[in-house]
Amino acid sequence: MVSRVIPVDPFDLVIFGGTGDLARRKILPGLFRRFCAGQMPPEACVVGAARADMDTDGYRAFVGEAIAEFGGDIANDTENLGAFLQRMSYVSIDARGEKGWSELAGLMREGMVRAFYFSVAPGLFGDLAERLNQHGLTDADSRIVVEKPFGRDLATAKELNRDLAAYFDEGQIYRIDHYLGKETVQNLMAVRFGNMLFEPLWNSQYVDHIQITVAETVGVGGRGEYYDKSGAMRDMVQNHLMQLLCLIAMEPPSKFDPDAVRDEKLKVIRALDAVEPHHIVRGQYEAGEEGPSFREEVNDPRSRTESYIAMKIGVSNWRWAGTPFYLRTGKRLKARCSEIHVVFKELNHSIFGEQEDHRNVLSIRLQPNEGMTLGVTIKEPGPGGMRLVDVPLDMSFADALGADGADQTDAYERLIMDVIRGNQTLFMRGDEVEAAWAWTDPIINGWHTRGDVPKTYDSGSEGPVDAVQLLARDTRVWRKVSS
Ligand code: NAD
Repeated sequence: MVSRVIPVDPFDLVIFGGTGDLARRKILPGLFRRFCAGQMPPEACVVGAARADMDTDGYRAFVGEAIAEFGGDIANDTENLGAFLQRMSYVSIDARGEKGWSELAGLMREGMVRAFYFSVAPGLFGDLAERLNQHGLTDADSRIVVEKPFGRDLATAKELNRDLAAYFDEGQIYRIDHYLGKETVQNLMAVRFGNMLFEPLWNSQYVDHIQITVAETVGVGGRGEYYDKSGAMRDMVQNHLMQLLCLIAMEPPSKFDPDAVRDEKLKVIRALDAVEPHHIVRGQYEAGEEGPSFREEVNDPRSRTESYIAMKIGVSNWRWAGTPFYLRTGKRLKARCSEIHVVFKELNHSIFGEQEDHRNVLSIRLQPNEGMTLGVTIKEPGPGGMRLVDVPLDMSFADALGADGADQTDAYERLIMDVIRGNQTLFMRGDEVEAAWAWTDPIINGWHTRGDVPKTYDSGSEGPVDAVQLLARDTRVWRKVSS
């Protein structure tokens, strides 16, 4: 089966922060992949705009190096690379000053889709929006793409929304959460709303609980200073895990349309219960073979920032009341994996007599090896009587769809193409982000008021033991963290 690549309309894409880490690792290699796939049309142009003094030739060399390092299987496609680099130019620009803006204006072409990627610190979003407007670089059809973190609390998120809304309509603002660009996340919607099988069971009558895990093996490394001011709650839960929770918990939208989908996600966030302090476990990793302790890495022996969080969340609506959502995320854990497990209830009566606990689990794996598995109970083969065993019904894309199923487009490239197409379904709306902060703020403020100190955990473990107890109290267990 060959996946269809439909070229997007020709565009001018300006990457503010075009020399930064994100551009180098994700945006530029992603664009090249779309170019090789024939989705980025040959007439499209990309302008890197950043502080560094560099000319277009220097930038093309920079982009070539980024692709060689992070391009993966397309890194050696020299034939396409030459043509792709011809589409690049560079402007040295100051988001807060006048430098570079008229030069940038001179590069913009009429009749092209125009998009501006703000791959810079959020403190510059307002400046960029203002200057784009001042220099007449945008019209009603221009789009801007903004990166996380979108604020550090409700007040700052509102401020950012206000700064952007001064110059752009909500329909022009694309707030990226790259988790939403993952193939499996979209497949989650396809599975839920494209099949008769799951939706009737997708509620508290049949679902015992849901687990969402995003585990990383790396520590904070060079991001210590930023991370110490953020922590796992702001860095991961408020955005990525919250978005996953929304997609699992939301009601079916009336159609697959940006506002219909986002309306339903917003309703979920508004239905989240306030979280009791004893339903949260915060952790900090200790030193191990993998590297120094969290406190050493953030260079603050008294840091109370969490590198791990586990929590139990209730969703107070008809569908989910009584079915807890357990979320956990952390750094320096045993394995790198992002997974959602929908754990169904036990049978209310077994005709097979005394058996171990058998229950269906739908596991959705976002990384590594994106795919889904449905655990079903069958008879253990052989003549040993009617003994039951759980086996996975593997819905791995690679098996079902051939090579195209395995060759999955990176989230960033998919989302950038959506920006050019003008499709906001997989981007967060301003009110969604604010609602997520409104839920998050009291939790973080509570820690400060109470002087909460995170528990420690060993590097390379599954997190603090208290997290195990969080589920054990409800006679449940976490699924193993494994890659
Ligand atoms: P970075 O520090 O590597 O790069 C920052 C870029 O901004 C550079 O190109 C720099 O020249 C430019 N810049 C800084 N001040 C400027 C000014 N006054 N005028 C014009 N350009 C200016 O940062 P990054 O890691 O690429 O991150 C960019 C944004 O993306 C940040 O908001 C970050 O939080 C977010 N983000 C990054 C990652 C990642 O993996 N790096 C992941 C998610 C989100």
